[in-house]
Amino acid sequence: SGCTNPDEKLNKTLSRIKHKIVVMSGKGGVGKSTVAANIAVALSLAGKKVGLLDVDVHGPSVPRLLSLKGKQPHMGDQVMEPVPWSKNLSVMSLGFMLPDDRQAVIWRGPVKMGLIKQFVEDVMWGDLDYLIVDCPPGTGDEPLSTLQTLGPTAIGVIVTTPQGVAIDDVRRSVSFVGEVGNRVLGIVENMSGFACPNCGTVHDIFKSGGGEELAKEAGVRFLGRIPLDPEVATSGDEGYPFMKVHRETVTGKAFEQVIEPM
Ligand code: ADP
Repeated sequence: SGCTNPDEKLNKTLSRIKHKIVVMSGKGGVGKSTVAANIAVALSLAGKKVGLLDVDVHGPSVPRLLSLKGKQPHMGDQVMEPVPWSKNLSVMSLGFMLPDDRQAVIWRGPVKMGLIKQFVEDVMWGDLDYLIVDCPPGTGDEPLSTLQTLGPTAIGVIVTTPQGVAIDDVRRSVSFVGEVGNRVLGIVENMSGFACPNCGTVHDIFKSGGGEELAKEAGVRFLGRIPLDPEVATSGDEGYPFMKVHRETVTGKAFEQVIEPM
């Protein structure tokens, strides 16, 4: 009937998801999608039921990262089935809806907001331990809509690089999440030092440790640093998640450290 609560469907979907983790960043290119995809894979490999939702309207990259390009979610009557990546991990991305990934995504604000909500409530996620959300960068309307759709129990994970300019963005992200009424689980410092494929150790390039200092200052947890690793970039380009094959390396252990508090 016309009298049903418009949020009833959304609330029902959300009530079946134990933890909602929103992976955010102050700006693009810091590795947010890479981190989101790899924590989703790492949690699924640890036996958890995981959904990965890519609502990065500016460049949905999850289909490429997980070799799911060209897949189409099954459409039912006002519902969509997420695309399975494995028994434990199902994926939904705006990228599945775009006919051609070279096509620029130009949607008006209200359309984007509606899409984000639809991607949570109209997708048959089922019972999940974790929903990992790859959120658009920044502190604008899209991340706001993402947090509001998921509700106050959604927890932010903020990805940054160690340079000073990125750190200012993180400060903004942390206060943004607080203002919306959500909690930040912690900060991940990505591209922190260089994981040398020859000697297996991490060499510092930029002054690292910015994320850790900032976490302390902002009163949030420092989840760990992930080094720049040529294999992480290759795995993303070729569409196999790094965590599926490299759990024993320095970088793989860094991803494991990030998911520990989850
Ligand atoms: P964002 O989602 O923040 O825009 P991406 O996850 O798309 O960033 O990453 C940007 C680029 O950096 C990609 O080419 C990705 O493969 C690469 N990248 C991300 N993290 C690392 C890392 N730790 N080591 C090497 N390359 C990385």
